[in-house]
Amino acid sequence: MRGKAILIVEDNPINLKLTHVLLSKEGFLVKVATDAEEALMMLKEFHPALILMDIQLPGMDGLQLTQLLKQNPQTRDIIIVALTAYAMKGDEEKVLNAGCDDYISKPIDIHNLIEIVNKHLRAHRSAS
Ligand code: MN
Repeated sequence: MRGKAILIVEDNPINLKLTHVLLSKEGFLVKVATDAEEALMMLKEFHPALILMDIQLPGMDGLQLTQLLKQNPQTRDIIIVALTAYAMKGDEEKVLNAGCDDYISKPIDIHNLIEIVNKHLRAHRSAS
């Protein structure tokens, strides 16, 4: 799992720093984008194994970006884990319907984040 690339798309500087530091310490190669447009630019030349996707972004939101990436044959294999502030039942369904593979509720629980990321990258590796 170490050395796998992760893209974090998050506009909140505190969450961005927290997730960046944690995932870097785990040994992942981490890149960051602060909105959907920046992420799309980066993904033209960078193919991460997983994207940690904030849902509430300025401009295009994380659900729209997920839909775009899952419709594109070049990017549809990238695992997308949503960072969601939504607490209501049904929003979980909205996230999964958009094509996200999983989600993490904010505030971010450090152990939960690492566990979910590792779980998906392990599954990804054995499936490939
Ligand atoms: Mn946000």
